[in-house]
Amino acid sequence: MDNKHVKLYTCGPTVYNFAHIGNFRAYIFEDLLKRFLLYKGYKVTQVMNLTDIEDKIINAIRGKNITANEYTQKYKDSFFNDLDTLGIHKAEVFPAATEHIPEMVKMIQVLLNKGIAYKTEDDSVYFKVSAYPEYGKLANLNIEEMQKGNRVENDEYEKEELRDFALWKGYKEEDGNVFWETELGKGRPGWHIECSAMSSKYLGNHFDIHCGGVDNIFPHHENELAQSQAATGEKFVNYWMHCEHLIVDGKKMSKSLNNFYSLQYILDQGYTPEAIRLTLLSTHYKQKLNFTFEKVKTSEKNIRRIKDFYSSLNNFEEHIVPVFEKLISSTHNKFDSFLSDDLNISGAIGTIFNMIKEVNSYLKKGKISKKDVSDIQEFLRKVDTILNVCKYDEVAEGLTDEEIKLIEERSFARKNKNWAESDRIRDIFLEKGIILKDGPNGTIWTKK
Ligand code: AMP
Ligand code: ZN
Repeated sequence: MDNKHVKLYTCGPTVYNFAHIGNFRAYIFEDLLKRFLLYKGYKVTQVMNLTDIEDKIINAIRGKNITANEYTQKYKDSFFNDLDTLGIHKAEVFPAATEHIPEMVKMIQVLLNKGIAYKTEDDSVYFKVSAYPEYGKLANLNIEEMQKGNRVENDEYEKEELRDFALWKGYKEEDGNVFWETELGKGRPGWHIECSAMSSKYLGNHFDIHCGGVDNIFPHHENELAQSQAATGEKFVNYWMHCEHLIVDGKKMSKSLNNFYSLQYILDQGYTPEAIRLTLLSTHYKQKLNFTFEKVKTSEKNIRRIKDFYSSLNNFEEHIVPVFEKLISSTHNKFDSFLSDDLNISGAIGTIFNMIKEVNSYLKKGKISKKDVSDIQEFLRKVDTILNVCKYDEVAEGLTDEEIKLIEERSFARKNKNWAESDRIRDIFLEKGIILKDGPNGTIWTKK
């Protein structure tokens, strides 16, 4: 890492279908990592690939009068929409595999020249695992066992050894209109080589952090690591970070098991994007997350608690002495050190609720100073640059002078026990999506 600049590579989607919320668990974990690094003052360059050429895509377009690009476009668009909806920071580069064929061919040629890859009769190219003694270290594999194993991959052609994997796949009839004419012959790249070629193009041969889900460790990342280090002779990455799976009923959520929820499906059930985000965010990335709608409801309540607390602080007194300086700085430190400890997000969120509890119990007895309010609100805003679920700007801005006057009129009506008038004004706000709540410190408002 140079000059507080972190280079981050995160494996992106295969765009043959809509992404499911299991995929988004991985992307939100990566978003948490990136946002925390930004919060700590690092510059972050993130690269996320789009796998837009792969067996599943070729299968999907076979026999149809459509190109791979035409087929994948709608899934790419939907992926970017979903990133926006979930408030996920965009990567600096989203390279598509189909736009980087020359870079992949070049890397494969280096491996061929070094004798670490070989060509087969059908014009495919394989990585020769026996020529790379480091193979298997990342995933802790027993290479002897793999040798004997009878795993059959669908990308097997005529490889020398079972464990060898395809860098380039020679053209076959069933590939239809999907091929590139290159120095390697007519064909298409294997999946793993895209991440090796694109990461070195945008981040250099050696970079800081490489992320993905645990299912990426083998074979994808093991193969990426072998290809890159064998080709460049340099150390590939400093840190690998893999997030555990999102599961439903004890099984990994995946397209192949057909047990997946798309983001749209959950939104259609009436849940907010912020609650879905918090649900995917708030379990430590090394733990499995069992998805339930109960958890989304709890997240919704938790967000509401923080937002209501934030708004309730707007009733303060100018001329009283601040008392929360210590509490704020210790909450800040704890929040920071929880996240610094391998992204302990549940611990970090816990500190926020402890602070809210303490301030609220104080508020039952007395008023709060203007300085305390602005310090607490500033801290909560900073926290939300990471959580990104409260979106205070939307909460704090937007009331017109007329609306503020109307809230005052309602308070006056309530003082005079004119409940009909008070309800009438509350309903006017409800229609506009603004909820008025009456508490010990007066009326607060939040957006629905
Ligand atoms: P794919 O589109 O299958 O290549 O997956 C894209 C990313 O989502 C990869 O980083 C996967 O490891 C991750 N992923 C897939 N399924 C899940 C799941 N159920 N839970 C968490 N991450 C997942
Ligand atoms: Zn990858």
